[in-house]
Amino acid sequence: MNHPLYWRDQQAMSWTATVLVSSPDGVTLDESAFYPGGGGQPADAGVLEWGGVFTRVEGVNGAGALVPVEGDPMPPVGTPVVARLDDVRRRSLMRTHSALHVVCGVVFRDFGALVTGSNMEPLTGRMDFNLPTVPDGFKSELERIVNEEIARDRAISARVVSRDEALADAEVMRTAQHLIPAQVEQVRIIDVEGLDAQADAGTHVASTKQIGEVTIAKVESKGKGFRRVRVVLPTT
Ligand SMILES: [Zn+2]
Repeated sequence: MNHPLYWRDQQAMSWTATVLVSSPDGVTLDESAFYPGGGGQPADAGVLEWGGVFTRVEGVNGAGALVPVEGDPMPPVGTPVVARLDDVRRRSLMRTHSALHVVCGVVFRDFGALVTGSNMEPLTGRMDFNLPTVPDGFKSELERIVNEEIARDRAISARVVSRDEALADAEVMRTAQHLIPAQVEQVRIIDVEGLDAQADAGTHVASTKQIGEVTIAKVESKGKGFRRVRVVLPTT
C-alpha cells in the first residue's frame, strides 16, 4: 500500500509530480505532500510550477484535489510540475499540532482528563477536555509542566499499524475521539515518546524541542465538565 507523501516524509516541502487530473474542481497529482486537512489540522497551501508558470494552491477539497486560486492557469493532464508547500505555514502547523499532543498527554497523566476535541491554526490551537473541576492554579501549572516536557526533547514518531493492532492498544484507544471507521484497515499512530500515543493523520515535528516554549493563554469553562484550553506558540 502506497501511503501519501505527507505520511512517508513529514519534512517534504518540495517535490516533483505529474498531473493526473485537471478540472475546474481541482488538480490531482500522482504524488502529493499537501495535507488534506483533518484531525483539527487545516489543509496545506502552496504552489505548482510548470514551465515557468505558477498555479497557486489555496487548499484541498473534500475529494482530495488541490484547489487552485481562482483565475490562475491550470496545468494540463500529464504535465510535470514542481510542487512546493507554503513551508512557513506548514512548519507552524506541525509545531502547533505536536504542542497539542503534549498538552493532551500532560492533562491526562497529571490531571486525569480526556480530550474531547481540538482545532488549530498556525501557532495557535485549542483542546477541549472533560475535566469536572479545575484545580487551583491549573493554567500556570499546566503551562509549567507542558514546557518541562517540551524541554525534555521527547522524540515524536509516526507508525502505521493494522486496525486490530490499534484496537488492542489501550493508550491509543483512550484518546480515540471517534471510533475508528470499519473501512479503515490501517491506522497511523503519532507517539510522543513516553507521554502520548494516539491515532492521528496529521503532520508533526520530530521532537518536542522543535515546538518551542508555549503559553497556555486561556482556560475557559464551556459547560459542565467542559474546559477549553488555548495554546499559543512563539514564531520561532
Ligand atoms: Zn492530533
